Amino acid sequence: MGVLLLMTDPTDTRDTGPRLGTPLWAFLAGVSVIGFTALVAALFRIDPAQLADLARTPLFWMLAVLVVLGELRPVMVSSATSVGGTYPSTMFTFAVLLHFGLPSAVLMQAVAVVMNGVVTRKAWHRVVFNVGQSTLALTAAAVVLGIFGIVPTPALPWVPSGGDLVPIALSGVAYFVTRATLVCGAVALHERRSVIRVLRSTVGPQSLVYTALLGLAPLVVVVMSHSPGLVPLFVAPLAAVYFTATLSMRRDHQAMHDELTGLPNRKMLIVSTEEALAEAREGERVGLFLLDLDRFKEVNDTMGHPVGDRLLQMVAHRLLHSVRPGDVVARLGGDEFAVLLPSIRDAHAAREVAARLRAALTEPVRLEGMTFDLDGSVGIALFPDHAPDFELLMQRADVAMYMAKEARTGVELYQPDKDRNSPERLHLLGDLRRAVDNGELRLHYQPKVGLATGAVHGVEALVRWQHPVLGMIPPAEFIPLAEQSYLMRQITEFVIEAALEQAARWWHTGLQIQVSVNISARDLLDSALPEQLEVGLARYSLPPEAIQLEVTERILMGEQAYTHDTIKALATLGVPLALDDFGTGYSSLIRLQRLAIAEVKIDASFVSRMADSEDDERIVRSIVDLVRSLGLRSVAEGVESDDAALRLAEMGCDVAQGWLFCEPMAPSDATHWLREHLNPDPGYGYRAAEAAHTA
Ligand code: C2E
Ligand code: MG
Ligand code: MG
Repeated sequence: MGVLLLMTDPTDTRDTGPRLGTPLWAFLAGVSVIGFTALVAALFRIDPAQLADLARTPLFWMLAVLVVLGELRPVMVSSATSVGGTYPSTMFTFAVLLHFGLPSAVLMQAVAVVMNGVVTRKAWHRVVFNVGQSTLALTAAAVVLGIFGIVPTPALPWVPSGGDLVPIALSGVAYFVTRATLVCGAVALHERRSVIRVLRSTVGPQSLVYTALLGLAPLVVVVMSHSPGLVPLFVAPLAAVYFTATLSMRRDHQAMHDELTGLPNRKMLIVSTEEALAEAREGERVGLFLLDLDRFKEVNDTMGHPVGDRLLQMVAHRLLHSVRPGDVVARLGGDEFAVLLPSIRDAHAAREVAARLRAALTEPVRLEGMTFDLDGSVGIALFPDHAPDFELLMQRADVAMYMAKEARTGVELYQPDKDRNSPERLHLLGDLRRAVDNGELRLHYQPKVGLATGAVHGVEALVRWQHPVLGMIPPAEFIPLAEQSYLMRQITEFVIEAALEQAARWWHTGLQIQVSVNISARDLLDSALPEQLEVGLARYSLPPEAIQLEVTERILMGEQAYTHDTIKALATLGVPLALDDFGTGYSSLIRLQRLAIAEVKIDASFVSRMADSEDDERIVRSIVDLVRSLGLRSVAEGVESDDAALRLAEMGCDVAQGWLFCEPMAPSDATHWLREHLNPDPGYGYRAAEAAHTA
């Protein structure tokens, strides 16, 4: 039953009740007043003597008990976004209406609703509204019956026959239409959506349950008049309706919600966003926020997952209470949340909400007697300003969030001029997302060969995209794109997992070869990386040196505390780092020394121009010298010719990588190659040494 309690209730306005003077308040007040008037009017028509007579029959009390019990638990009927409860008591109150007339029915109903309110501790305004709307629904049904001349009283109960199907059906319709309209009206005002849409999304499933409940009512009446003792048997079909509806609702709910926090998940966010986009009014905006917690992983790692889980639940709770009803707070996974504002005035207002959400996060959290300082970054994208659909909105909110994280501003609105994504690239990004999900990414491996000895020093894992139509796509065409999006995380996750798996295969079959993996700037912002590596290494029983991470020089340039934290964590883990594409950034010597780097990879652009340009040769030579003097290993990238290899060997460069030795290979080819070359192959070494002598 737990899940049901998480659902939003149409008349639930977060305990406090609607604010005075708002349209919702006016609506609820109006329905309550009119409903009560109808109730009082009906009660005036009760003949106390008749009621007393009725109260002496066991049937009356049996019905009363059934109505009260039936009012306790609603049959939840859920479409994706709207929820309405239908109470099983409907069957019996409608039967009472048909048999004993309106006054008895509304009286029983009102008593049941109030008792339900007391038992479930509902806010009083909700109880009053529910009495009002159910009274009005019964009154509408009674009016239809009255038109057909059917006005039952306790003294003159009515028992329908086969010929009365039409009035019964019509009065049932009147009951349903009244009830659905009133409840959906409240939902619509509460969530600031259009009534028509709320109706459309709830009427289908609701009408099914109502048909079952109202359709059984005349049969209840017939049994009441013939053998009242059998009436409790109707509890059985009622229970069937109840459990079937609840079960299907729970299944719907599970598919659309996050188990840990009970918040809507990505699937539901898509549905809600699409609905909001379709409903968006002229001059208003739909806002999509992406939120990412900073430092959450630290808590998770140091305090354990149960504490991390509780923290996420608290965060979910806080976010939920920082937005208005009708706004959607969703959890996308891990420590990523999204907030949908179906209607927001402008960018300024959106920023205010974002700041409020962030403030809710930064409030210290006390758990297990400890205080945690959380922080988060929020990226905002607005419809129609920034994007026309969900995918793009997400994309842009993500770009903005990344900016907020990088600049450490906390909140950023999407800025087109800072986004390097063109429509074609976005299309490709969509493809890439599917590629990641469908397993179209592959790793190829390129060996690194010692220049003096010919020994194999490791292999570099290079990702390829096996596109079903376009064929093999090189990383240069999609990695820079992915780096601007949340996809990069998933790609790196895949690359690390695949590299670990391959390394394990090699290490456990006698090929103890280090596998280098390229990671991007964004991965270093993600403190989950060290954890993934630690867990992976343990799972495959690999030592930390089995893996090396290649980080491009450009990443390390900015003064970014985040990257440093992650790099420190990696160093603690014992996983070596290589500085990739060296020479393209502007690392200072001091920085090089401060970072725990084992290897410096000289960018291919210098290596390839060495033959033609003395400047480039001088640059390479000085990098090799510099790297050696720091006690690190130098690796020349893009070595294509014997000539280049010889020069590099003569300079004292340790290792080379390039087409001269081998192109990146698929795993099976790489295994073959490694089996042949892993024992020091004198070939290259001799050649290099000879050349050095003759030169
Ligand atoms: P990188 O890390 O500098 O990788 C070396 C690149 O040089 C590879 O290109 C490799 O195929 C290419 N190469 C190898 N030998 C030669 C040669 O003799 N001459 C020339 N001209 N090039 C050679 P690739 O595979 O296209 O990768 C390009 C870049 O994409 C990589 O540069 C790396 O920065 C990035 N990348 C590749 N795989 C991944 C990955 O799994 N994750 C991340 N974040 N980036 C990756
Ligand atoms: Mg590399
Ligand atoms: Mg490189």
